[in-house]
Amino acid sequence: VEAPFADPFFELALLGRAEHGPLAERLLDEVGLDVEYRATGILRVARTEAERADLQRQYRWQSARGLAAEWVDSDDLGRREPLLSGVAGRLLAGGLWLADEGQVRSPRLVQALALAAAQRGARIMEGAWVVRLCVSGGRVTGVQTPSGTVGADSVVLAAGVWSPDLARGIDLEVPVQPVKGQVVSLRGLGKRPRQVIWSGECYLVPRPDGEVVLGATEEEGNYDARPTLAGLHRLTEAALEVVPAAGGFVVDGVWAGLRPAAPDRYPIIGWAPGVEGLFLATAHYRNGVLLGPLTGRRVADRILAGAPPGEFAPFGPDRFI
Ligand SMILES: Cc1cc2nc3c(=O)[nH]c(=O)nc-3n(C[C@H](O)[C@H](O)[C@H](O)COP(=O)(O)OP(=O)(O)OC[C@H]3O[C@@H](n4cnc5c(N)ncnc54)[C@H](O)[C@@H]3O)c2cc1C
Repeated sequence: VEAPFADPFFELALLGRAEHGPLAERLLDEVGLDVEYRATGILRVARTEAERADLQRQYRWQSARGLAAEWVDSDDLGRREPLLSGVAGRLLAGGLWLADEGQVRSPRLVQALALAAAQRGARIMEGAWVVRLCVSGGRVTGVQTPSGTVGADSVVLAAGVWSPDLARGIDLEVPVQPVKGQVVSLRGLGKRPRQVIWSGECYLVPRPDGEVVLGATEEEGNYDARPTLAGLHRLTEAALEVVPAAGGFVVDGVWAGLRPAAPDRYPIIGWAPGVEGLFLATAHYRNGVLLGPLTGRRVADRILAGAPPGEFAPFGPDRFI
């Protein structure tokens, strides 16, 4: 949960987080895939006095909100995370330990959800590119693909950073831009973080299979989803400043992705104004994995049962369109 203030988005993120544990169990049961949901906790570290003041402010309001938040003094960081023992008390100004935070392997989660959906009768047409939304008399009637039209009473536009292209085809402006993120996949060779370590510029995530994920850059407006030398340089520099011991980690691979982001960085979830039957579910920015299961369930409730927006009310398209 990444929210610096106690606001409606933070409450939404908490609800999103609560979906993951039970969902992981159900998916293991139903399709036999472990999506690697683990409540490993996150240790946020401050490098400067300003970052320390900011984390302490978060510590105070999260504790007051009844959440698991613990302040770790600089000298104690090495005990909480042995990989930090070389820099604790020297380069770091303290940390915030958030024990309830978790992680999940997102490609596995998508795969498991697709299998579970198929078991319930969903037809997944992989590689079928939608070239146009079909609208007639102010109502959506389906989508057009190169191999034909797929008719539908309702269409969910969830095409990530490409959502605006499809919307523009029906004269709808959906203000979504890419924020590119680059990632390095590492192996610690016996040494690895006990928990997620997160500084202002990067994070290190220890996966159950020994992988350590180093992420992620923030590159606004960049549609090129390939890793670059400059991006990897920024990441490695940021990681080695906080965890010099990571210098001995072996590089397994690099990748990049495009986060779909609205101008205010909040999701856009709701019925498209002026086009009956078209539902927008996009702009999850840095939180699409966290919120995905909750968004999916609530979108289904709204389309199939006419449910009200509930906690998603502040995040409707009406704030832009
Ligand atoms: C480096 C990195 C790290 C991240 N870490 C986290 C994290 O720790 N936690 C978290 O919650 N989130 C994280 N995110 C964000 C998360 O990945 C996104 O918010 C999420 O993927 C958005 O999901 P989406 O389905 O809306 O869009 P996407 O994942 O972009 O999916 C859109 C899909 O639509 C398809 N599509 C587009 N146009 C068409 C078309 N015309 N026809 C058919 N299909 C089309 C695309 O091929 C794609 O498969 C991270 C992102 C990056 C890049």
